[in-house]
Amino acid sequence: SFFGGIGGASRKGILVKGSNYLEALAKTEIVVFDKTGTLTKGVFNVQEIYPIEISKEELLELTAYVESYSNHPISLSLKRAFGKDIDNGRISDVEEISGHGVIALVDGKKVMAGNIKLMKKMNIPYFDGELIGTVVHVAVDNQYAGYIIIADEVKADSAKAIKDLKAANIKQTVMLTGDAKNVASKVAASLGLDKVYAELLPGDKVDKLEELFSQKSAKGKLAFVGDGINDAPVLARADIGIAMGGLGSDAAIEAADIVIMTDEPSKIATAIKISQKTLKIAQ
Ligand code: ADP
Ligand code: MG
Repeated sequence: SFFGGIGGASRKGILVKGSNYLEALAKTEIVVFDKTGTLTKGVFNVQEIYPIEISKEELLELTAYVESYSNHPISLSLKRAFGKDIDNGRISDVEEISGHGVIALVDGKKVMAGNIKLMKKMNIPYFDGELIGTVVHVAVDNQYAGYIIIADEVKADSAKAIKDLKAANIKQTVMLTGDAKNVASKVAASLGLDKVYAELLPGDKVDKLEELFSQKSAKGKLAFVGDGINDAPVLARADIGIAMGGLGSDAAIEAADIVIMTDEPSKIATAIKISQKTLKIAQ
């Protein structure tokens, strides 16, 4: 019947890498989600550009250039907003600092783009008023050059994903993110998640997972759902690592125990229901 369960799941676009994961899934008590690309589309649109002493066009161009080697959803979105081809000859010395942003030489100028953690780390004074949205701060040759506000959208399927988990008797739904608190709280409230933790570095996400492990029963399991960008260690640490294959990286698909082939997070509850039924048959 485990083979039947795995087959049934695969027909629904849920790839289970072994019967042990199906068995574990039936005992899930806590489901932890990554935000960007998992519960949200991972496609950010530029809302506003606030340059300082350069033009909006220049600020967007420098940002698209410094981001050009990154595969982070923020980078892809800024390159799309810039809309022109990138001349790789203008960029060198690219460094991506996970959970912070990117630094590179563009036309020989040192450009940095990222969150306030990056600005603090590099000792750049930044605008720190209350901004609603995901903010990319930019510095050029160690001078603050302004910021770009971008926004992502919750997936249409995400509310159903949380509702279905509650209907399947999951005790806790949690969201972890490296993004700003105000963005994270808005998403969590709109979806009815039980808990939300924001502004986490990739290592902090693992620490949070450890904390959550202590909140389940001895036989209960914890599942983590992510896209593999800055969350691969968490995927590996969870009892059941689930990758969203729609947008997810090859590394995430490799590291995960279960792969959702579509970009619908409600497939997690579908998988849990299949596992619960399969386990009943098997017993
Ligand atoms: P999450 O997937 O949970 O949103 P990440 O760890 O991927 O978190 O990123 C956390 C934060 O780090 C982002 O919200 C952004 O502020 C910043 N960041 C990460 N990578 C980049 C990048 N390439 N460009 C700009 N900012 C970035
Ligand atoms: Mg991520």
